Amino acid sequence: MKRFDLLVIGGGSGGLAAARRAAGYGASVALVESGRLGGTCVNVGCVPKKVMWNASVLAEQLRDAADYGFGVAPAELDFPTLVEKRNAYVARLNEIYARNLAEAGVEHIRGFARFHSPHVVSVDAESVGADHVVIATGGRPRVPDLPGAEHGITSDGFFELTRRPDRVAIVGAGYIAVELAGMLRSLGAQVTLILRGEHLLKAFDSLIRDALMEELSHAGISIVPCAELERIEPAADGSLRLIGGGGLGFEGIDCLLWATGRAPATTNLGLELTGVALDDDGHVVADEWQNTNIERVYAIGDVTGKVQLTPVAIAAGRQLADRIFGGQPTAKLDYRNVPTVVFSHPPIGAVGLTESEARELYGQDGVKVYTTTFRNMYHALTERRPKTCMKLVTAGPKERVVGIHVIGLGADEMLQGFAVALKLGATKADLDATVAIHPTAAEELVTMR
Ligand SMILES: Cc1cc2nc3c(=O)[nH]c(=O)nc-3n(C[C@H](O)[C@H](O)[C@H](O)COP(=O)(O)OP(=O)(O)OC[C@H]3O[C@@H](n4cnc5c(N)ncnc54)[C@H](O)[C@@H]3O)c2cc1C
Repeated sequence: MKRFDLLVIGGGSGGLAAARRAAGYGASVALVESGRLGGTCVNVGCVPKKVMWNASVLAEQLRDAADYGFGVAPAELDFPTLVEKRNAYVARLNEIYARNLAEAGVEHIRGFARFHSPHVVSVDAESVGADHVVIATGGRPRVPDLPGAEHGITSDGFFELTRRPDRVAIVGAGYIAVELAGMLRSLGAQVTLILRGEHLLKAFDSLIRDALMEELSHAGISIVPCAELERIEPAADGSLRLIGGGGLGFEGIDCLLWATGRAPATTNLGLELTGVALDDDGHVVADEWQNTNIERVYAIGDVTGKVQLTPVAIAAGRQLADRIFGGQPTAKLDYRNVPTVVFSHPPIGAVGLTESEARELYGQDGVKVYTTTFRNMYHALTERRPKTCMKLVTAGPKERVVGIHVIGLGADEMLQGFAVALKLGATKADLDATVAIHPTAAEELVTMR
């Protein structure tokens, strides 16, 4: 049996980061990956998603160009070309990840890992043992348990589409539902967004949620709240019929997309042979140090069910390697104030507490909020007039900034620097004392009254 200092199960964002960092400290490291290196983010998540978002933003800008006086004929998207180029880019990234692992001296084992015991796994016929084991197996899309649900696709299936569907129904209210709805709409599809509850993006600030709902409707997306589907039936013409309670029905759908959450990849892993504790949803329970309940078995990234973002998985993996192999016994990830972006149309950026979270924490009188709503100057000349909305949430007599929320053109690139300020404890007075950059949308964040 081969033995290593560290065995990482899963070659996604978190696993790759942990493996490379540990190898950099001189540890002998093996990484097992059953699919393509890079995991969800590179293959069926952030990366191909951002390519599609870029394409959908270009589609909007091509339409806006006429409003700026350009003689632009209506542009036709060659969807297969976009998909081919996107896939080629992802394949290049897969190769780069393989090269990076080899250069770091990490042994890349291809196959599906199953535990025999806490520190021994089998990959096909091979057994591999290690002093330390990291579970970084991520997650996969959840499909609801309904008759006919198999006629729908998930975000994984979205990246397998070779032609743009015409009439799409997306079920879900989270960021993946919102992003895919916006992209498909901008690229010319008719989109219906079906939500179980009343709101999109329930974890976000109410200002952002309401503005998003309005902008998606203006863009022509049909939003159906409080809807519960009961079954899906294929029609004779090959389209789908979606049937729900209270007479709810949708006909002629040629692509049904489930965006109803993600499940942790903890099944078939042999975890029952290790004693590693799972929560009710099947996530591996890990503490703030990424320790599971079993000594020298750790978990990082989406499989833990904590903040499910690539940079979080990477940071958790690196901190863990720093702690175990880098002589930094206090290294751990701070999960507070993680900035996040939704690549909607328009995009959203947020960091820190929502207004209602802040009021709960600091009391009604302990919180002061500043908001602004305006049209980005880019849209002064365009027929399309999406709004930009911003909210600063401050707490205490010094008005420390505890939340920043933006929806509008450029929000995605705006938030990173402001997140640093929030993390450093900036107050409203600090923002006021910063000279604005004019004319930008970001300047509003330092000029709010
Ligand atoms: C559509 C979509 C869009 C997203 N967009 C963003 C975004 O814009 N920004 C952002 O920060 N995050 C985004 N995310 C989330 C991000 O992709 C995840 O948070 C991140 O990939 C988690 O990394 P991970 O290492 O925990 O797991 P993963 O990246 O899922 O990697 C887990 C790996 O483990 C492998 N594996 C599983 N079981 C085994 C086994 N038994 N043996 C061997 N290998 C195994 C899998 O094949 C997989 O490659 C998006 C996700 C989706 C689905």
